[in-house]
Amino acid sequence: MRSIVTMACVDCRERNYSTEKNKKNDANRIEFKKFCPRCGHHTLHRETR
Ligand SMILES: [Zn+2]
Repeated sequence: MRSIVTMACVDCRERNYSTEKNKKNDANRIEFKKFCPRCGHHTLHRETR
């Protein structure tokens, strides 16, 4: 079972990425370090709805 989740920059709240999430492996909200084009550098991105 996989579901698509949207990843938003925690600094500017811009939604930059979407990824597939395995609900069994990631019961909690997932976080990634990704490049945010709005911030212009790598920021933490968090799962959002
Ligand atoms: Zn940002």
